[in-house]
Formats: sequence, C-alpha cells, structure tokens
Amino acid sequence: MAKERVLITGAAGFLGSHLCDRFIKEGYHVIGMDNLITGDLRNIEHLFHLDSFEFSHHDVSKFVHVPGELKYILHFASPASPIDYLKIPIQTLKVGSLGTHNLLGLAMDKKARILVASTSEVYGDPMVHPQTEDYWGNVNPVGPRGVYDEAKRFQEAMTMAYHTFHGLETRIVRIFNTYGPRMRLNDGRVLPAFMGQALRGEDLTVFGDGSQTRSFCYVDDLVEGIYRLLLSDCVDPVNVGNPNEITIAQFAEEIIKLTGTDQKVIYKPLPVDDPKQRQPNIDKARSILGWEPRVDRSEGLRVTWEYFKSLPKERLYEEAHHRDFNKGEA
Ligand code: UDP
Repeated sequence: MAKERVLITGAAGFLGSHLCDRFIKEGYHVIGMDNLITGDLRNIEHLFHLDSFEFSHHDVSKFVHVPGELKYILHFASPASPIDYLKIPIQTLKVGSLGTHNLLGLAMDKKARILVASTSEVYGDPMVHPQTEDYWGNVNPVGPRGVYDEAKRFQEAMTMAYHTFHGLETRIVRIFNTYGPRMRLNDGRVLPAFMGQALRGEDLTVFGDGSQTRSFCYVDDLVEGIYRLLLSDCVDPVNVGNPNEITIAQFAEEIIKLTGTDQKVIYKPLPVDDPKQRQPNIDKARSILGWEPRVDRSEGLRVTWEYFKSLPKERLYEEAHHRDFNKGEA
C-alpha cells in the first residue's frame, strides 16, 4: 500500500529535521521543503537515501506546488532566531504571512490537515505569567522582534479564518524555547551561543543582568507534543513547552558546570524588547493531548553538549550567516 504523504516546510531546520525523522518513523512518506536560507542540508543528509523521503528546494513565500496527494502539511519554515530577524526581516514577515497563505491554499486543494508553527513570541514581553493560551500578548509591532511576532500573529489569524470560513482542518502550536541537537551553532540563541563559546574557550555572554527567564524544552518532547496535537481535534492554539523556568544567569552557570570549562560570564547589553520572563502554562496540552515533557534539562543538555562536541572543529568557526540573505527580491 502506498504510504500517506506529509509535507514539512522548513525541513532542513532544527525542528523541521526532527519532524521529518518522526514522520518517517511513523510510516509516512515525507516531502521536506526548504529554501536553505537558515536551514542546513546537513540536518537531513541521513534521509536522502530513503525511498520515504524527498527534498524540494523551494521558498514557500512563492506559490507552492506539490504533485500528488497530501494527508498533512506542517508549516515550520521561518527564521527563528532574533539575529535572523534583524538580518532578514522581510523574508521573516513573508514566510509567516505569504508562506502561510500559500500553504493554506495548498491544504484546501489537497484536502489536507495543516498544522502551523506559532510561538510564545505571540505573547511578546508578557504581562501574564505563566502564559496561558487565552492571553493576547504584549507585542511591539515596530520593534526588531515585531517582524517575527506579528507574522506569527497574522499566521494564527489567517489559519483560524481558513478554518472558520472554509472549514479547513487546522492546528496551531505555540512553541516555547526548544533546544537539542541540530540547532545552528551560530544562530545567536542562548544555548548554542553558550555551548559554542565553551567549545571555543571564550567567555559566556549573558545579556542584561541575566535575571530574565526562559523555560527550555527538549526537542523530542516538543515533537511528541506536536505529533499528538496534529492527530487531536483541537483547533484552538495550544502551548507546547517545558514549564521548568530558569534565569539566564543560572543557565550560564549550568552550562559552565556541564561543560567542565573554566570560562567566566561576561555581561553584554540586553537586546531591545527582550522578554523579561517566559514560562508556558501547559494545562491545556496536559488535558487535551495527555502530554507533558519527560526529559529533564540535565539530561537534554548533556545530549545536546555531546552533539556539539561531536561536530567537526571547523564548524565552530563558520560564519554566523554564510548565505547571501540579500539575494532575491526582499
Ligand atoms: N541571551 C544571552 N546571551 C546570548 C544569547 C542570548 O544572555 O549569547 C539571552 C537573550 O537576551 C534572552 C535569552 O538569552 O534573554 C534567550 O535568548 P534566545 O535568543 O535564545 O531566545 P528568545 O529571546 O527568543 O527567547
């Protein structure tokens, strides 16, 4: 019998590549799509020999054509790191808005169910803590993060409108900070930044006074939550993340301890609009999906550290942005 087919956009990225692995393991045929602006083929090179995987090099902000049937679409294409938004703000806006619109249209055409990757950034610098799904957020639309936050907020609105107006089967996951193997070492986010610094023998850069908080979820837990949400009948947005909250200063200490390096912490200015606190309320995921995270931070960090340590040394010194972001029209 022919396998059911799934389209995963952002397939060469951190989360996209793990989703490809999971859906292939579940017996699907996966079409991985990516324009490779921030994605990296090395994340999916282990899949290329499989009959159950095909790769499509395409920018979903342009009309998306996929021959044949599709059962599910998972839209995970987007720059996802604050330094990316600064470098490629217009592509970030386009993939969340135009890209989402194209994929909703494709889902209509294929009668496929679509799950879109939203984010805790829809809550902005939150005034409600921990964040529940019914909180509307505190976002600066014209700040540096606005291009990501507002694109994702538009994405949610557009997705819900397709559900309400066209009866399309839609799912929205609000993803909180996630970590694990295949994060881009130089993507500027705090975990690869600290681990990269530890590997290069540099001091760890804490932004601000380090009192801001985040709650880090291991990637396997996130993928499990997303898989369950896709198969559920829940149309409203669902937070998926790990509620175990920590300050960034404590996080730096944990990394120093784990890596056994004698690096110091140095303090750098806090980026504009950096949220002061973030923690998911996951009551809804618990009750509707029967899901909660299982991997402790100590275990997840250990596995992630092993991954970064195993990379060829030259990858530690790769340019943060080795592709020409200004190519194309944006
Ligand atoms: N951060 C830091 N040092 C770094 C990179 C990030 O202290 O080298 C801080 C950043 O200011 C933020 C937190 O770590 O408060 C998480 O940043 P990240 O970019 O990973 O994700 P986000 O801000 O989107 O949660």
